[in-house]
Amino acid sequence: MVPEALSQTDPEVAAALEAEVTRQSDTLVLIASENYASRAVLEATGSVFTNKYAEGYPGRRYYGGCENSDTVERLAIERAKKIFGAEHANVQPHSGSQANTAVYMAMLTPGDTILGMDLSHGGHLTHGHPLNFSGRFFKVIPYGVHRETELLDYDQLDRLARQHRPKLIVAGASAYARIIDYPRIRRIADEVGALVMADIAHVAGLIAAGVHPNPTAFADFVTTTTHKTLRGPRGAIILCRERYAKAIDSAVFPGMQGGPLMHAIAAKAVAFREAMSDAFRDDQKRTIENAAALAQALAAGGLRIVSGGTDTHLFLVDLRPRRLTGRTTEQRLDRVGIALNKNTIPFDPEKPMICSGVRIGTPAVTTRGMRLPQMRDIAKLVLETLEAEPEARREAALRERVVALCRAHPIDPWLGRRGTGPAAAARPS
Ligand SMILES: *Cc1c(COP(=O)(O)O)cnc(C)c1O
Repeated sequence: MVPEALSQTDPEVAAALEAEVTRQSDTLVLIASENYASRAVLEATGSVFTNKYAEGYPGRRYYGGCENSDTVERLAIERAKKIFGAEHANVQPHSGSQANTAVYMAMLTPGDTILGMDLSHGGHLTHGHPLNFSGRFFKVIPYGVHRETELLDYDQLDRLARQHRPKLIVAGASAYARIIDYPRIRRIADEVGALVMADIAHVAGLIAAGVHPNPTAFADFVTTTTHKTLRGPRGAIILCRERYAKAIDSAVFPGMQGGPLMHAIAAKAVAFREAMSDAFRDDQKRTIENAAALAQALAAGGLRIVSGGTDTHLFLVDLRPRRLTGRTTEQRLDRVGIALNKNTIPFDPEKPMICSGVRIGTPAVTTRGMRLPQMRDIAKLVLETLEAEPEARREAALRERVVALCRAHPIDPWLGRRGTGPAAAARPS
């Protein structure tokens, strides 16, 4: 299973890698930010582009020998622009956090006011959390969801924008299951002369597939990771209007990064090509259908779904009615091979290391070919695991059922399948 040279050079890392393949293969991954990259993406990531220094941009590098780097970076840029309908793309950010930092660096000065979604309501650390650089360098006004509906409170956002006149409104979330009304946020921003940054890290794959609204026309900047629903290598991109192209490019390099990760950029190009395929579109559509079905099955089993459901690949479960915490639930499910993460729910009374909720996402299980019947199986496994106090014999039986379900939908990332993703070859045409 594991590459030969690695086993000979470093048996310890090779063993960990082999164990990781088994873990990924035999775990039901419901972590909403994780996915399985295709073999083609892994090949580009593990390629000799890792050896290349290419500071600068295609045609304007600070090193020689960049012709092939130029080719893959230009492919990544053109494909990203096409997929999202953007005027300009920068494909060099090493991560989603770097992409957001670069936009702030390009447009803001320390002390400026920004509006961002509260982390505890579904926002991201880089949207202004006090412990993050964004919360330390800028005056952050958090907005959130409505207490009753648990939907984004646009009236509050409007009020806060008029009161604080921010330079930038950051929209987008890591744990919000509903469509975000970008046209409305654009109107609010225009009223107060603010810029809009849409952080689509989570929903980028859904948008690329055309099964979720695209905010590009309503935002000055769009940032996204490439490794979540988009199913590419770890990394990120920034999309923007042409008039901000220069400011964004120089904020990324030389503003905050040195040499680009050319192997990751090559893999981004590959992932973007895959994202234009029909098989990718089908998978993203099924990801949403699967999330809705899983949420419904869990609700039928007595769990409370935050905001009553989902429009996306993820949803939040409020565990308070079951007298469980997010932490206990995460741990219990982990022992039977179901991976998810504890998550705060809006207005959560628990501490962030405990949490009253969990976040559940369907990208990974959908990529490995699971459909509505498997969502019902997963719901049953989750409900049975949470039904009673942990007990070794019961846990072992549940674990066996999890492994059987996983093996019926194999990932085989090394030996595997070609095409647009591990699921593609498994699907009858
Ligand atoms: C995941 C995520 C990021 C950050 O991505 P990293 O690559 O982990 O830095 C940024 N914004 C949102 C909304 C995210 O969900």
